[in-house]
Amino acid sequence: MKSIIFIAPPAAGKGTQSKLISKKYNIPHISIGDLLRYSINSEDESSKKINEYMEKGLLVSDDIILNLLKNRLKQQDCISGYILDGFPRNVNQAKEYDKLLEKLDKDLGLVILLDIDKEILKNRIVGRLSCNKCGSVYNELIKETKPKNVGLCDKCNLKLSKRIDDNEETFEMRYNTYLKETEPLINYYDDKGCLYRVNANINADLIFKEIQSIIGSSI
Ligand SMILES: [Zn+2]
Repeated sequence: MKSIIFIAPPAAGKGTQSKLISKKYNIPHISIGDLLRYSINSEDESSKKINEYMEKGLLVSDDIILNLLKNRLKQQDCISGYILDGFPRNVNQAKEYDKLLEKLDKDLGLVILLDIDKEILKNRIVGRLSCNKCGSVYNELIKETKPKNVGLCDKCNLKLSKRIDDNEETFEMRYNTYLKETEPLINYYDDKGCLYRVNANINADLIFKEIQSIIGSSI
């Protein structure tokens, strides 16, 4: 089994696919967000610095992330591979990650790009609604997950709410940042010959099938 890096815009289904792969191949799903949260909660050596960045609304520095990642990848459960989610986000981080792998004597593995239409992503994010009482999530722009009555929870019949940053403007901004940072990253991995493009405009089961065949053909 090889390690897997996901490159995907927000809401492309990266989390769902990571869980499916992790379960099927019995390798850990390493999310950078989780590593940071875990570090803060366990009050380890990095937690103070991470808190400082977060309080200022800044992105945590690459050094800190690489150090957390190094400690995580050394653990026993990563020996036969892992799924990396949320890192690297740009070419600079990719180069640092290459150095880390060399130190740990590990292979890069597969880089899977979830290719998805911008309009689909936009609808997923902009139409998202949730119930504050039961936590159910709906989407007013997607037929299959629309609430039965406009704006009301199917279970509680209460008014659904929208997250303040789930709007078109914020989406455009985030999407453009993603394109700007990841396009060079895609080229970087393409040049190394380890990039696989997966059409992510289809449902999660079909995407997972496609990923399994990539994994199968690379062993
Ligand atoms: Zn509800």
